[in-house]
Amino acid sequence: MLFTELGLAPEILLAVGEQGYVTPTPIQAQAIPVVLAGRDLMGCAQTGTGKTAGFTLPILNHLATKPRPAGNRRIRVLVLTPTRELAAQVEESVQAYSTHLPNIRSTVVFGGVGINPQISALKKAPEILVATPGRLLDHASQKTVDLSGIEILVLDEADRMLDMGFIRDIRRVMALMPAKRQNLLFSATFSEEIRELAGTFLSNPASVEVAKRNTASELVRQQVYRVDREKKRDLLIHLIKEHGWHQVLVFTRTKHGANTLAEKLTKAGIESAAIHGNKSQAARTRALASFKDLKLHVLVATDIAARGLDIEDLPHVVNYELPNVAEDYVHRIGRTGRAGSEGDAVSLVCVDELQLLKDIERLLKREIPSLMLPGFEPDPSIRAEPIPNGRGSTGGQGRGQPRQGQGRAGSGGGGRPGAPAAGRGGPRSGPSGGPTGTGHRSGGRHR
Ligand code: AMP
Repeated sequence: MLFTELGLAPEILLAVGEQGYVTPTPIQAQAIPVVLAGRDLMGCAQTGTGKTAGFTLPILNHLATKPRPAGNRRIRVLVLTPTRELAAQVEESVQAYSTHLPNIRSTVVFGGVGINPQISALKKAPEILVATPGRLLDHASQKTVDLSGIEILVLDEADRMLDMGFIRDIRRVMALMPAKRQNLLFSATFSEEIRELAGTFLSNPASVEVAKRNTASELVRQQVYRVDREKKRDLLIHLIKEHGWHQVLVFTRTKHGANTLAEKLTKAGIESAAIHGNKSQAARTRALASFKDLKLHVLVATDIAARGLDIEDLPHVVNYELPNVAEDYVHRIGRTGRAGSEGDAVSLVCVDELQLLKDIERLLKREIPSLMLPGFEPDPSIRAEPIPNGRGSTGGQGRGQPRQGQGRAGSGGGGRPGAPAAGRGGPRSGPSGGPTGTGHRSGGRHR
């Protein structure tokens, strides 16, 4: 299925294309038609499945096709999230998807930061408000927010909201909205409590569900970038610079590949070091200490070297090359999203690795959202080559037999001259410079 088949407005399709999305994820394919039809929805989907676009795109379509009458300044859509990090992320997605709908404004309110800038933003009459419940109620009690015009309510990560004790706040918020509205509820699990909540406020809901994540941490946002093998290095540099990633663990398949990549990244102005079995223990310890102190921004490691490293809870893990064994993927991405903080796991996947990707998705029992970044799209004429010591596909025809010693050990080392310039519009992987990096997720609500 293509995005163009979903009946979304051209301005929305344009923004989706600029994000690099080609096909809707399963939750999007199921949820978008339901929301467009105006029905209530109960969606079972975790972060990383593309659920944000699943509700945001049809909501924007509704707002664009049924504009607010002149003079009406009331908020039309409310998205409630459990944490400020998620609120900021969702609002950033709303902004990205509405970039060609200049009349549709959104804003976000959450606790832990000053309330006055939020009051000013609310005065500008946004149509979409993303909020955490506690701060929203603060605004309501100060009469700096008016929810009487809400047409669509989204409860995002409803299970976490219940876990965090927000149920009474949610009910209070609901009492401030018109009873007749469209309701969308997303939850990673469907416990008895969630069903109860759904029963009280959803009316004849359609229910959509995507396969649950298996072993991979719930908090890891996984993403595949399809790219040619020769352009991986430039894409990685682009991603690190564009998003301001400051602590990235990058996995390569070979020691040689790790060395070459670390050198090239350093040359590109990104302080990096390689860690692998050929390095002395002293060199490894030094590199690790600098990485932890943020003096080194990138550590390039092989699977075996990484196993002995005492590093976890990293914001970003990059699979520069997919591992030959699918289970290693789960170990690699397990370095991020720990201790309740969110993490991103990005995989750069070239044509040689499509079978490895399939193996990983089979193990996870879910598809990983995959995208192509403008300027880095793979050239369809490039044929798959066997991966040394791996099970790469050859020519897309099932699994090829690896030809030992013939591959491109450290294929990523070889960059292509005249690579695309950085700075073109690309997808976001979370708010850069926003509250994400500083916030914490546990500990109840932030007012
Ligand atoms: P979410 O589950 O909404 O947090 O989304 C997870 C990630 O998937 C985000 O980084 C999105 O940018 C990305 N994403 C969402 N929809 C698509 C799509 N159709 N194709 C590729 N990536 C997507």
